[in-house]
Amino acid sequence: MPDEEREQYAREQIAKIKPVINKVLEEDYAGGVDVPDLKGGFEEAKDIIQAVVDKLEEKNAKLLSLYERDYANLKGWVESMTSGVLMFDSKKQVLLVNSMLRQIMGLRDEELSLENVVALMEQKETGLKEEGFLYAEVREGVWNRMGFGEAIDLMMEKGYTIKYLKVPLKEKFFEVHINPVRDEKGQVSGGAMVLHDITMMVEIDKMKTDFVSVASHQLRTPLTAMRLYAEMLLNEDVGGLNSGQKDYVEKLQESTLRLIKLVNEFLNVSRLESGRLKIEPELTQFEDLIEKVIADLKPLIEERGCKVVFDKPKEPLLQIALDQGLMHEVVNNLLTNAVYYSPTQSGLVEVGLERKAGISPEKMGKKEEGEENEYIFGTSDYLLLSVRDNGIGIPKEVQSRIFGKFYRADNAMRERSDGSGLGLYLVKLIVEASGCKTWFKSPAFTKIEDGKETGWGTMFYVGIPIQGMLPKEGEKTLAA
Ligand code: ADP
Repeated sequence: MPDEEREQYAREQIAKIKPVINKVLEEDYAGGVDVPDLKGGFEEAKDIIQAVVDKLEEKNAKLLSLYERDYANLKGWVESMTSGVLMFDSKKQVLLVNSMLRQIMGLRDEELSLENVVALMEQKETGLKEEGFLYAEVREGVWNRMGFGEAIDLMMEKGYTIKYLKVPLKEKFFEVHINPVRDEKGQVSGGAMVLHDITMMVEIDKMKTDFVSVASHQLRTPLTAMRLYAEMLLNEDVGGLNSGQKDYVEKLQESTLRLIKLVNEFLNVSRLESGRLKIEPELTQFEDLIEKVIADLKPLIEERGCKVVFDKPKEPLLQIALDQGLMHEVVNNLLTNAVYYSPTQSGLVEVGLERKAGISPEKMGKKEEGEENEYIFGTSDYLLLSVRDNGIGIPKEVQSRIFGKFYRADNAMRERSDGSGLGLYLVKLIVEASGCKTWFKSPAFTKIEDGKETGWGTMFYVGIPIQGMLPKEGEKTLAA
């Protein structure tokens, strides 16, 4: 055979093979892969190619069955969970949903999109969207008001796990977690939304709040009577007292006042927790309010031998909308703590108040590390109140619990035995209910001694957006 003919012949044989190779390259084994008959010395090549194709087909089938087994396992695990689970990919397409989630949402399969689930949770149709349940914990101790759609975007972008504590949905309550799912390179490739039913816990908590509310209310009347009678005795309205009697009645009055304070704290917590407390902001000169709190605390400040310095802004600030009673309570609690937890006779408490600028639109989304607290209200300006003391500080290991109900750190209990652990909890409830923010830094001071760093003191902050506290309707005011 002449050379050209031979070459032509070889080309024809290779052309027959090409579709087979292409199918293998594209992993297209559907319907099987047939290797055509080859001739003229190519028979052996056909056998080799056939063997390779068979091997690949076999391998592929194995992989597929492994994948199917894993997927079935995953589905089984997700299905068996008592929480609702919805998994989605980077394009927010739903990949997997368990029957608990279907049951919670009450959606048909064809309606189960991430968008519909989010709309249902935000209760757009019932207009409840602005309620406090849209507060999310973005990172430990960092809470932001944001919708679920926004939270999903943030989770995808930053890889944060985002948590909502109490989301009402169809007569029930859920704790909702939005978790990133990562690929083998560690990149966020989708997410999982998990809904735990916490209805029972919420009901028990409500029963407890109701009990505390009723009990405190009932306690107030006899306590007020005790206070009045002690006062009358001390005023000697019903005859003189000798010094021993006077001493006892004074102790009686002191204890009664402490009890009244505690009962009021209980009442206020239950009013705030149940959302019955109204918030009525009115234009206020914030500096005056702070000075009033300091003046009211004068007896305690003197008793502790503490120095309180208010670093007033040079120019008077513009008036800001504050609920005066509630803000008085916030500043009072922070200052009382600062005075109590700083050293007797050498305590120094510095109160600061300044206007801070919001982030400029060009800097949006480009915050640097350490600037987290600088732009807490986005582009909006805000007032920043700070209360710094030179006291015992808050140990690192308990810092995440410090705003918790009844929580008191060991070092504080040693310093002062009669605290209730409710003051900061009240501060947090008030601040969050009114659209403001609070956080702290401890130690506030550090120094290096013998190569070792020691720290002391605490600095509490409250940020109030320039628009002021958010008003809220309700039937109760603070008990005082
Ligand atoms: P209480 O002061 O009645 O214990 P709070 O709710 O006001 O309760 O504070 C809770 C806890 O936070 C305190 O027990 C203490 O451990 C810690 N704490 C609050 N303020 C300070 C502060 N300025 N310095 C050190 N620890 C503080």
